[in-house]
Amino acid sequence: MTIAVGPAISDSRGRELEMRDIDLFQQALGLMPPWIVLKTRFDAEARRLDIDISFARGAKFICPSCGAPDCPAYDTIDKTWRHLNFFQHEAYLNARVPRIDCKTCGVKQVGVPWGRPDSGFTLLLEAYMMAMVKSMPVAAVSRLANEHDTRLWRVVHHYVEDARERGDHSAVTRVAFDETASRRGHDYVTLAVDLDAKRVLFVADGKDAKTIEAFAEDLEAHGGDPESVTEVCIDMSPAFIKGIGESLPKAEITFDKFHAVKIVNDGVDKVRRSEQKITPVLRNTRYIWLKNEDNLSTQQRETLGGLSGSNLKTARAYQIRLTFQDFYDLPSREVAEVFLKKWYFWATHSRLPPMIEAAKTIKRHWDGILRWFDTRIANGLLEGINSLVQAAKAKARGYRSNRNLKAIIYLIAGKLELQLPT
Ligand SMILES: [Zn+2]
Repeated sequence: MTIAVGPAISDSRGRELEMRDIDLFQQALGLMPPWIVLKTRFDAEARRLDIDISFARGAKFICPSCGAPDCPAYDTIDKTWRHLNFFQHEAYLNARVPRIDCKTCGVKQVGVPWGRPDSGFTLLLEAYMMAMVKSMPVAAVSRLANEHDTRLWRVVHHYVEDARERGDHSAVTRVAFDETASRRGHDYVTLAVDLDAKRVLFVADGKDAKTIEAFAEDLEAHGGDPESVTEVCIDMSPAFIKGIGESLPKAEITFDKFHAVKIVNDGVDKVRRSEQKITPVLRNTRYIWLKNEDNLSTQQRETLGGLSGSNLKTARAYQIRLTFQDFYDLPSREVAEVFLKKWYFWATHSRLPPMIEAAKTIKRHWDGILRWFDTRIANGLLEGINSLVQAAKAKARGYRSNRNLKAIIYLIAGKLELQLPT
């Protein structure tokens, strides 16, 4: 190891300095007896630093299975862990790891303080990788670290699974469910979010009733009780409604208000599409009718002003949608129910089939829509988590599997307590 020394230093002093860099690495690595740094090898061309570690002769070890102390080494296995870079150079710890012959357990490999036995990365490097993976795609971390991404995914899965195993879900009572496309609309995953702790509790494959069942099982596995879940927020998907009935028997449903507004909004869009065929003035106005007025440009607002007061069917449908949105601003369930009845009468007498259809959908989900006034729960939080997930998906090309996607969701939105060295 000659980086800090240089060729001008005499041989006799060189020896001394070599001793010192062993001490330096011994301390920097925090190695405690019986572990010692034997020697270091630096290869400038290969940009690689190797630190060879061994243990003091006659050292005794603890049995990793039963904890018996004072087990002598039986034989050794050579192992290598990659460590944090030494400046721009890759650094590796090479150790002779002893196996002991425990009286009770037989031959066992002892644990080492700097890394998990079969990881190939030291704990500190793993901690660093996990911090990076939280804020950038695994593929990018893999390029920066010059490691194959399957090795990184193995680290991610280890820490996420370990933290999830220790997760305590015993206080969970209010849960929102929502699905998100995991890969270009082919596959879905359903997220279950604790509305109080504001964290993703569970990610299930698919978007059918079984996802709720899988959630209930996972909840029990983490000390929770499906019967303690008293409030859920979902969209109007029949699969979710069925799943809640089967697996969360005590839960009252609040239908997510964003989804309810979307149903009515979709009605407006259908009216516009059929009307635009005979009314050219409606061309290129789709966005104007669908977005809230605040989000429109001045010109779009002028167009809307001109059209919304007209006798166009689309304008009438639009007024029905605006009024439905006002419903959510009302002060109490009683007032809101009277209002919603009037709205329903109006919409169903509009002679606009898509609006009649939307109103009937609202009617079929009446109690769960009004329940918003009791619970005030909505999937807005979930939308926020979804946008995190979408961003993660966009950044990470080639998430190979739902398993990888789920791990990242837990990592960024699960509020996991990772057990990492600091
Ligand atoms: Zn033992």
